[in-house]
Amino acid sequence: MDKQQEFLLYSKFLCELKAYYYKQKSISCVNQDIRYFLESQQARLNKYNLTLRLDYESEGNVYNANMVANTIPVVNQFECMTKFNESIYYQRQNIHKRYFFNNKLIYSKNAYITLYETIISADEQNQHLQNSTYCCPNCGAISTLKTLQQEGCPYCKTSYLMSDLYPKITNFYMINDGSVSNQQLGFHKRFIAISAIVLSLIQNIYYVLHDSEGIYFVLVTFFIGAGIWAFLLYLLTSFWYLIRLLKQGKQSLTILHGSKGTKKRITKQLTPLDPNFDYEYFEGKVVSLLRMVMFAKQPDTLVQFQGAQLDHFDNVLDIAYHGGFGITSLYIKDEYVYLVLNVYITETRFENGNIKESDEVIELSMQHYCNHLVNREFSILKVNCPHCGASFDARKHHHCPYCKEEYDVGSEDWMVTKVVRK
Ligand SMILES: [Zn+2]
Ligand SMILES: [Zn+2]
Repeated sequence: MDKQQEFLLYSKFLCELKAYYYKQKSISCVNQDIRYFLESQQARLNKYNLTLRLDYESEGNVYNANMVANTIPVVNQFECMTKFNESIYYQRQNIHKRYFFNNKLIYSKNAYITLYETIISADEQNQHLQNSTYCCPNCGAISTLKTLQQEGCPYCKTSYLMSDLYPKITNFYMINDGSVSNQQLGFHKRFIAISAIVLSLIQNIYYVLHDSEGIYFVLVTFFIGAGIWAFLLYLLTSFWYLIRLLKQGKQSLTILHGSKGTKKRITKQLTPLDPNFDYEYFEGKVVSLLRMVMFAKQPDTLVQFQGAQLDHFDNVLDIAYHGGFGITSLYIKDEYVYLVLNVYITETRFENGNIKESDEVIELSMQHYCNHLVNREFSILKVNCPHCGASFDARKHHHCPYCKEEYDVGSEDWMVTKVVRK
């Protein structure tokens, strides 16, 4: 597998994401579900006459979180194996986030975060690969990989090369762990140096003006003064960092305490059900499910949230995952595995003409049919009917349009039954 291509894809996505918020330029390297989330978020921003601008400045290298790529056999309704490789990449980013209301700046914030991207690539050697279904990146219609490459999409006629279709990004999320970036440290060093010089100059102005002392004396007092001021300012900024660290530490401790043992417990209990279980992938799944619920125009019509108990998320503009969740319950009953989680996030909302941010704990209940593996290539836009094998868009149809059988998302992916703030 060409890892270099995936590293490049990581950075390409960042450029495309920035251009997307600036110019509404479409993003080519993501799957339909991410595009769907971005469109839903855009629709919400438009509803409130808001514009979001995101600027990224990358720091350091791109890293692979699971260097030993997972080989994921996906079992479809015909029991044939399709092979994909999935990896998670991350890099530190200085982000500058701005919101405009009717083109007037109402919110601006810098943050230092880690941005994670899940990248899936296809094993071209696999003989069943060409028959797997794929959503046309141009029009969203479903056809097989073979058709898209050989004859082009039957609906919009666009032809693709394999490199246009894989690798692609299936998820992205950012974690703010509160560390200090090199950029911030550089800024503080410059701040200390300039302030110390200015303060010492002011102190020495009397001597210079009255010229009562020799130039030698003035220079010495200037340098000594600057040194003392730099030291005092250094103490002051260190103290400020310490306060910030303690504040963030308190928050991290809450998350750490709340999520203690979660990874171990979930991995231990879910691996027997799915031999390919991967905690990082699962974490990404939780974030993408939350995002789907919070940004849906009418969440109750989504097949993945049937009968779900939901809070109002109508004014949520963005969510940031804190990198941890706690587990309230995990049990298996009547062929289903049930899971209740407390997910720690920061919510950005539009309230009374202002952008508000608050830390929230979201209770998320989800379930999955144990006898089927979670389909890593699952997309709500191209589900496979387990009854007749047809592919269709589950946003529009709760019943298979071909055989009329009700579609149960729980056999292919996680189904959400509750999303409420605690
Ligand atoms: Zn098409
Ligand atoms: Zn069907």
